[in-house]
Amino acid sequence: MTVLPIRKSPDLIGVLDLQGGVHEHLEHLDRLEIPSRRVKDASDFTGLAGLILPGGESTCLARLITIFGLKDVILQHYRLGMKIWGTCAGAILLAEKVLGENSCLGLIDIEIERNGFGSQLDSFVAESMIPAVSGEILPLTFIRAPKILKTGKEVNVLLRIDDYIAAAENDGVLVTVFHPELTGSVAFHRYFSEKCGLTPQSEAAVISDWGMLSWMKHARIAS
Ligand code: GLN
Repeated sequence: MTVLPIRKSPDLIGVLDLQGGVHEHLEHLDRLEIPSRRVKDASDFTGLAGLILPGGESTCLARLITIFGLKDVILQHYRLGMKIWGTCAGAILLAEKVLGENSCLGLIDIEIERNGFGSQLDSFVAESMIPAVSGEILPLTFIRAPKILKTGKEVNVLLRIDDYIAAAENDGVLVTVFHPELTGSVAFHRYFSEKCGLTPQSEAAVISDWGMLSWMKHARIAS
């Protein structure tokens, strides 16, 4: 009798760990009890149902993706079914068109404008209902964010504000120009986990001990 090896279905979400806000995403996934892993090289892609491209600096991230030879690896795993979520700089990496610049992965038919609101000083917080994602009003944190200017036919707009689009998706890709990982809500991490076919174990919608912005405490300098 031949015993076939049991192939475990992908059950992890990876966070690309080359530059940018990685641990905040990992912490949100932990809160939902979704198994996660930092992704630095090709071997880290085994078992990934989804990959998060974090916020940071998109030119720097695009360069590092090339230097570490990860572009083809990401594209290959995407074609095999791995879902991808880009937050802010991550959304820029996923866009088919970047105003005035070359695109990197080009996996979602959107046109995006880097630094669409101005400089770092024009960063802001807001809140909005996003019915597809949650029944609660969600906090939104924009940090030198891009603006999505246009979307193609097969792209579903999740949030439009004034003259721009702030969140959108197609079958395989989710993009948000804001940072859910820097808020006390885990709604987007739950939404992405479910898009990846994973079931969060925790019912939590908001982080009860969020209080002071927990991502700021990491930046505090010891006196
Ligand atoms: N402004 C950055 C860029 O263009 C993105 C900022 C962010 O990820 N918070 O890459």
